[in-house]
Amino acid sequence: MAILEDPIKGILELQNYVDGEWVDSEGGVKDVVNPATLKTIARVPISTGEEFDKAVQAAKAAYPDWRQTPPLARARCLFRLKELMEENFEELSRVQTMEHGKTIDESRGETRRGIEMVEVATGIPTLMMGYNLEDIASGIDEYLIRQPLGVFGIIGPFNFPFMVPLWFAPFAVATGNCVVIKPSSEDPISQVKIVELAEEAGIPEGVWNVVNGGREVVSAMVDHPDIKGVCFVGSTPVGRDVVYKRCGATGKRVIAQCGAKNFAVVMPDADIERTVASCMTSFFGNTGQRCLANANLVMVGEGLSEGELDAFYGRVVDAFVDAASRISIGSGLDESVQMGPLRDRSKAQRVLSYIEKGIEEGATLRLDGRNPVILGDLPPDCFVGPTVFENVSPDMSIAQDEIFGPVAMMMKARSLDEAIGMIHDNPFGNAASIFTGSGKWAREFQYRVECGNIGVNIGIAAPMAFFPFSGMKDSFFGDLHGQGQEAVRFFTESKVVIQRWF
Ligand code: NAD
Repeated sequence: MAILEDPIKGILELQNYVDGEWVDSEGGVKDVVNPATLKTIARVPISTGEEFDKAVQAAKAAYPDWRQTPPLARARCLFRLKELMEENFEELSRVQTMEHGKTIDESRGETRRGIEMVEVATGIPTLMMGYNLEDIASGIDEYLIRQPLGVFGIIGPFNFPFMVPLWFAPFAVATGNCVVIKPSSEDPISQVKIVELAEEAGIPEGVWNVVNGGREVVSAMVDHPDIKGVCFVGSTPVGRDVVYKRCGATGKRVIAQCGAKNFAVVMPDADIERTVASCMTSFFGNTGQRCLANANLVMVGEGLSEGELDAFYGRVVDAFVDAASRISIGSGLDESVQMGPLRDRSKAQRVLSYIEKGIEEGATLRLDGRNPVILGDLPPDCFVGPTVFENVSPDMSIAQDEIFGPVAMMMKARSLDEAIGMIHDNPFGNAASIFTGSGKWAREFQYRVECGNIGVNIGIAAPMAFFPFSGMKDSFFGDLHGQGQEAVRFFTESKVVIQRWF
């Protein structure tokens, strides 16, 4: 297995992209550090509210022409963008690994998923169609048309620096809107690379803007009178208290996809080998930094005696720990590595503090990810290995809180009803999985569980670009979701025309 060449030479001085121009910011700058090597790979501007406003004004000015550009011509720009993304696929993927830390295969998966958003949005001439009915009364016809609204803001999280803003931007632009994207300042390089390609693809000036920064840009966005709607992906406190509430106060549309604490339920008839294989990518993929990652594994004793449940639980946990302990850790550019570092030191420290908490709360540390074996000569600061706790009760903070790292909690429930109760007692509702051979149990699970994305014998219930990315309870604030038809509806107003000719 090869160690791949690093695509970033030296330190990139990132800029904002506003009105078709690359511009410097008057604000501060922040280092972007590769968490595997702790080397600075870029410096990102922390832009001001005024700089964000300039981008909004540029987008507002570009909007009338872009709106009048036929949907098919808008789609052709996206076809070109898709082609350019394909041509640059490997470089785009390696950049994600460098700025985020994930393995190269995880990055390639992320690039693929991002490109799929662009592909689906190219269907806009059909996706955006309205509908009509003749003779709603004698000689009177009625029809519904979908119209774009203007300028939308998009705020990205750190964990999928390439893909997440693409859950929204291609659909917003395809429907005739203009966008201003604020990437996560922790790993903003991917969004800068995408907008370079958008420029090359012929997307006109002012349509697709990027303003780098942090809270000040978010604040300016959610309060801005010319922003029609905001798409946010990130933690619950920011999504709910900053984005959803303030967008509501200023009458904006909102998609706020937020935090998670996902459960996987294993029924006694599950195929243990396949369940554990699926759990490895679900619990430890992206180093546990996925909103769809499972974190709590519940073995269910439906139809079993207490002793049989203990034996079943023991078999699954043994297989889980055995597989987890064999995951190789190191730099994501080393193709033999299965798990990279956490995004930065503070995130690693946060995960370590939860491991301490779990021990204090009385859970049994079955697999200790502290001080893991790391392949290659790398600074250990951001690395935490797969960690497994046993004897976890649902009220412990390790079972309740989003740890966002490679920490798995092993639990037991007497019945499926009890397991569903555990899921419902948790404030989040992003995703849940059931592993079973029984259609009856699977149906009961999908019917009752209050989570937006359900996996049946699937560890990561990630919706494709042509389905909405859902979420419930503290995991989602808003109405319509990103991706597919729902995104088209989010980015358009439905106007109804009722018409009679004398
Ligand atoms: P975060 O909330 O810290 O940051 C998200 C964005 O908000 C970033 O662009 C950041 O610059 C900005 N921000 C941060 N603090 C802010 C503040 N106080 N005021 C204004 N803006 C602020 O989230 P993160 O750490 O980047 O991402 C991880 C979180 O995202 C996790 O909770 C994860 O579950 C969630 N997530 C959810 C989904 C989903 O679809 N539900 C997908 C991916 C990630």
